[in-house]
Amino acid sequence: MTAQTASKATAGDEAYETWVGHTIVCATCRAGAPCVTAIRLGRAWRQARR
Ligand SMILES: [Zn+2]
Repeated sequence: MTAQTASKATAGDEAYETWVGHTIVCATCRAGAPCVTAIRLGRAWRQARR
């Protein structure tokens, strides 16, 4: 067990949840259209999970 229990989610998990949360609420993403915000969030997720 690690000492830090407050933040059990990694940076990658947070970035992923941010991206998923965006695709749920974003009209552009829900329409299946290219969304610059989703692309940027996806890129941030990929970098955070390294
Ligand atoms: Zn979007």
